[in-house]
Amino acid sequence: MDIPQKVPTLEANKRKYLFITDELGSSTAFSLSRSCAAEDIPFELHYLSHENCQNLNSLKKSLEENLCKQRMGTYLYILTSWDTLEPLSQLAEKSGFSASEMAKVGFGEKKKNVYCSCCQQLNKHITESVIACVYCGHELHVSEHYSRRLNAYLGSVVIKGKGSR
Ligand SMILES: [Zn+2]
Repeated sequence: MDIPQKVPTLEANKRKYLFITDELGSSTAFSLSRSCAAEDIPFELHYLSHENCQNLNSLKKSLEENLCKQRMGTYLYILTSWDTLEPLSQLAEKSGFSASEMAKVGFGEKKKNVYCSCCQQLNKHITESVIACVYCGHELHVSEHYSRRLNAYLGSVVIKGKGSR
């Protein structure tokens, strides 16, 4: 089910707002930026196309430069699909935005990356809570344990009664 999170409101008393959005988050980003325009507050809106989202690495550098240039008092909104949300917020943190200087809202279906504890491979775009690892075939239980380093949830091997393999 595509249930968007509650629509964020504009954080009060900021000098400037920076919105990073994609197709899914754009209507929220546009409505927030309209509020800025109505109140005469400066803002920047960065729209990530589908191609950009597919190839985040190539985007990172230019985005990072852009974020580093932002003056103090800028408040950042990341309004994107779940896939893109986490890598972008890590990027923002690296560029100096603290948790109190940004809001993150994920849109669309939440897909997880699942790290196989058996073969150490990443299974991508997972929505189920139990999966078969596409690399080694083991049945994995998707845990709540999230690794920022891997941008993935740990998949623990489901132990079956009698001997394996
Ligand atoms: Zn595996």
